[in-house]
Amino acid sequence: MFDKILIANRGEIALRIHRACKEMGIATVAVHSTADSDAMHVRLADESVCIGPPPSAQSYLNIPALIAAAEITGAQAIHPGYGFLSENARFAEIVEEHGLVFIGPTPAHIRLMGDKIAAKQAVKEVGIPTVPGSDGAVGSDEDAIKIAKEIGYPVLIKASAGGGGRGMKVALKPSELSLALSTARNEAKSAFGNDAVYMEKYLQTPRHIEVQVLADSQRHVVHLGVRDCSLQRRHQKVWEEAGSPALNDSQRDEIGGVVTRALEKLGYLGAGTIEFLYENGQFYFIEMNTRLQVEHPVSEAITGVDIVREQIRIADGSPLPFTQDDIVFSGHAIECRINAENPFTFQPSPGLIKQFHVPGGLGVRFDSHIYAGYRIPPYYDSLTGKLIVHGRNRNECLMRLKRALGELVVDGIETTIPLFNELVRQPDIINGDYNIHWLEKYLAEKKAS
Ligand code: ADP
Repeated sequence: MFDKILIANRGEIALRIHRACKEMGIATVAVHSTADSDAMHVRLADESVCIGPPPSAQSYLNIPALIAAAEITGAQAIHPGYGFLSENARFAEIVEEHGLVFIGPTPAHIRLMGDKIAAKQAVKEVGIPTVPGSDGAVGSDEDAIKIAKEIGYPVLIKASAGGGGRGMKVALKPSELSLALSTARNEAKSAFGNDAVYMEKYLQTPRHIEVQVLADSQRHVVHLGVRDCSLQRRHQKVWEEAGSPALNDSQRDEIGGVVTRALEKLGYLGAGTIEFLYENGQFYFIEMNTRLQVEHPVSEAITGVDIVREQIRIADGSPLPFTQDDIVFSGHAIECRINAENPFTFQPSPGLIKQFHVPGGLGVRFDSHIYAGYRIPPYYDSLTGKLIVHGRNRNECLMRLKRALGELVVDGIETTIPLFNELVRQPDIINGDYNIHWLEKYLAEKKAS
């Protein structure tokens, strides 16, 4: 096993990885920008290295500085967390070229899944259901009109290099198609430097349901059930659950089986998530994330599996210590993303945390890097913490969430806590009756009233 791991990230996820390392007896190296010298991940790590000025491009994305930090400190492996370089295949290759271990999938799998057109084709070939749409990239407007007619309106134009919901445009009818195509292409070109786009049928009331997997170097693949991340704003997840209020145990096991068999065939390695839209009893693949996800703790809560620990063990060549039959799903879990933002306009609200109180008690977990007296820098994402609650069933989970939200205090900045205090009391949420548009609609109605 590794003696020392460099954590190429910041914020709550850097701490999360640090915690797994310490429980495994592994020393940690934190890296940080000059804006993060006082950050909790730096304070707790065994060693730390400053890798550049505040802008991410010069620090957390600075590959030569990260490799130098690993070499100077004698770290043997690098955990990329999520965001930043976690899905950068070239980074994974460079790490390996320097004789270090990248804690994640192979560069080939990262590259494959990063190209959404290639990813869709690859998963289709191993039996994963996909959204009806164009076979690969869309060519001329004439071709697009033909394909759209075949699959039926509305259609969605998506960027092959897409991420974070950018480069996506809906065309409700033929007259809107040409503009949707050119806007999506322009957006994709400026955001990703690649203007390839493809077309899918636009599903109108789907849920977002994803399957968490772990795959070892002996080609054993195990799934940790599903997460329902339908509560989104601007395609960003806000509230996540494990399992889904829309699926029973046998539906969960069925889609889990489809995914594990597919990833076995692809020879996938490490942790990963296959994301689906789910409508009228059908699953439709949208993308695969080849990294740890923000919402991984809800799966940990219902399975008892430490996903980061398993990522590290897999990267070290160890086999998974359990089979699918050993995974017992217990109860229900919900995560709320506590962001430094206005709860209703989502305007970022960086600044000084004056008071901070974390809820406790049975089934409550709070993953965060903030503390009273900490100043949230304006340079990075607004996630300040994740409140994760677990209950024996969804009802107990909701009651516990309401209770825990009542104890949570983050003063000095605006946060999304007031939004969650409302959501946990909404009949549709209590009944699990929502789809990917529910939250946007709720916010729009609130604004109008
Ligand atoms: P990104 O990588 O940009 O986040 P995804 O493919 O994961 O793109 O899609 C992000 C979100 O966009 C989904 O969670 C869903 O809300 C919406 N979406 C994507 N594809 C479709 C589709 N075919 N129909 C309806 N909504 C979609």
